[in-house]
Amino acid sequence: MSRNKIHVKKDDQVYVLTGKDAGKTGKIIAAYPSKGRVIVEGVNIATRHVKPKSQHQQGGIIRQEMPIDASNVMLVCPKCKRPSKMGVKVVENGDKVRYCKACEATVSVISKGKKG
Ligand SMILES: [Zn+2]
Repeated sequence: MSRNKIHVKKDDQVYVLTGKDAGKTGKIIAAYPSKGRVIVEGVNIATRHVKPKSQHQQGGIIRQEMPIDASNVMLVCPKCKRPSKMGVKVVENGDKVRYCKACEATVSVISKGKKG
């Protein structure tokens, strides 16, 4: 196993590849790297009908996003707005960055280089 790492993190914009919400994009609102799962805003919503527990409490439908497998999503490049494969490279100042393979834009800094 590869040290429980997933390729996306909280607040990333992602594109859903498979499942009932395939084709949707949304923001990751929670990531569980140890489980390899993420929760994406508006994706894989489970609805639950709730009966009122008392006269003062309303019943209704609870809508809640359920986790999906991180391998089912693809990061959307903030620059070219396309679901893109990400690469890792070391840039001039020594920073290790994640970059978009489509437009080569730096998406995020993974670790700071010596000069940074
Ligand atoms: Zn891009």
